Amino acid sequence: MKKKLFIDGMWVEAESFSDLYSPYSGDKIAEIPQASNEQIDAAIDAAHKNRKTMAKLTALERSSILENLVQLLKDNKRTVAEIISKESAKPLKFSLGEVQRTIETYKFAAEEAKRLHGEMVPMEAAENGSNRLGYTMREPLGVIAAITPFNFPLNLVAHKVGPAIAAGNTIILKPASQTPLSAYYLAELLEEAGLPKGCLNVVTGSGKVVGDRLVSSDKVDMVTFTGSPEVGKNIQRKAELKKVSLELGSNAGLIIDKDTDLDKIVPKCVTGSFSNQGQVCISIQRIYIHESLYETFIQKFKKETEALVIGDPLNENTDISSLISVQDTERAKNWIDEAEKEGSKIITGGKLNNSVLLPTILTDTYPDLKVSCQEVFAPVVSVNSIQNVQEGIEQINNSRYGLQAGIFTKDIQTAFQASRELEVGGVMINDIPTYRVDQMPYGGVKESGNAREGLKYAVEEMTEMKLVVWNNND
Ligand code: NAP
Repeated sequence: MKKKLFIDGMWVEAESFSDLYSPYSGDKIAEIPQASNEQIDAAIDAAHKNRKTMAKLTALERSSILENLVQLLKDNKRTVAEIISKESAKPLKFSLGEVQRTIETYKFAAEEAKRLHGEMVPMEAAENGSNRLGYTMREPLGVIAAITPFNFPLNLVAHKVGPAIAAGNTIILKPASQTPLSAYYLAELLEEAGLPKGCLNVVTGSGKVVGDRLVSSDKVDMVTFTGSPEVGKNIQRKAELKKVSLELGSNAGLIIDKDTDLDKIVPKCVTGSFSNQGQVCISIQRIYIHESLYETFIQKFKKETEALVIGDPLNENTDISSLISVQDTERAKNWIDEAEKEGSKIITGGKLNNSVLLPTILTDTYPDLKVSCQEVFAPVVSVNSIQNVQEGIEQINNSRYGLQAGIFTKDIQTAFQASRELEVGGVMINDIPTYRVDQMPYGGVKESGNAREGLKYAVEEMTEMKLVVWNNND
């Protein structure tokens, strides 16, 4: 099925196409338009031309469009979930979960649209401020270029499109090449939801070509990017003085203290390590467990991991399916092999079942191995024993990344110490680092990024503060 670009409220033919294949079956599922430079510029011009229309919508109008979208997503939940599963091999149960979260994300955006406000500034507190009235306002930036990854193709797009609309901006969306179908479907739904023409534009094509042109355009006011650190750094360099928000990768760590109830937490560890085949930016990659619990944890963790159902993403029972590409499967397998050669033990997994990399637990992994220090983005987790929590904190901090970390402990002082010392954007006490709900401030430090998403926080990033001062002196 040949898809079209969505530019200035119209579905536009492209001159060239790229075939899209299912990562699981290898079947061709669509032909994706590759936008020419002229078409990318037309999308930028449409967003630029329509920015005043968007900025003039009232808070109620922006909120109503987002509420309409929420309803349309509810009405089409299964259809959208199947699109996600087909294009990304995300098992259907997780795709349905993603749609449910996306509904919440847009609902929060609809609510945030009504909360855009400034504050009074006490001008007369300064010697030279008497008889003046000062207040701030928040104004939309104008044109937002959103560049998104494949792993949550609907909800991570929602974290950009939702706040952009809530704040009154126009958008050019460049989805990941492997997951454009959910983005085009979203454009159809937003058209039906009443978003004015040209306020959302969707252009597909290679990240380098489309991405570079968006990032370099003078008509784009902000680039919001979620993806790998390498691409993120490149965007930051090219964007010069443009506002850039980056949500990047990580090798998230979890500490398990002595006296933790393993039966309660092992299912969470399995979910956190292996859901969406580990292709989650806060997937558990490194577990540091108190030596007194190490052996028992490994046995229980192995047993639950081996119970996961491997197979077709469109089958409702499937827990684990293919990675996004053959190259990523080979890369992850090579990293496991390297670890084994260097003395690590494979407790389970470490091999392929047809095209699917089996969920893999490693032990005795030292910090310099790729499976420890780089982002694996595959169903691979390392477990190492520690003598105390301090050692776990040091291991987690020994990383170029810092997105989220988790700690299970019954000791309140230990939890407090971990919350203070972990060098990450978010610390989850008595939970896995993979925990996220969509309104919370979410983002990283170090090479994990420079911004916060979560609707209220993203709206702040996508608006400019303006100060107004009235002089009431004669
Ligand atoms: P990616 O390869 O960096 O791609 C992300 C997006 O950037 C895609 O749309 C891609 O287009 C585009 N792109 C590629 N080269 C570009 C360039 N030179 N200029 C501008 N855009 C370019 O990432 P991915 O493999 O899709 O996603 C996985 C990564 O995302 C992981 O590192 C993961 O941790 C991170 N992530 C972070 C968060 C977070 O919130 N912190 C959430 C989810 C994922 P093409 O697809 O056409 O190449």
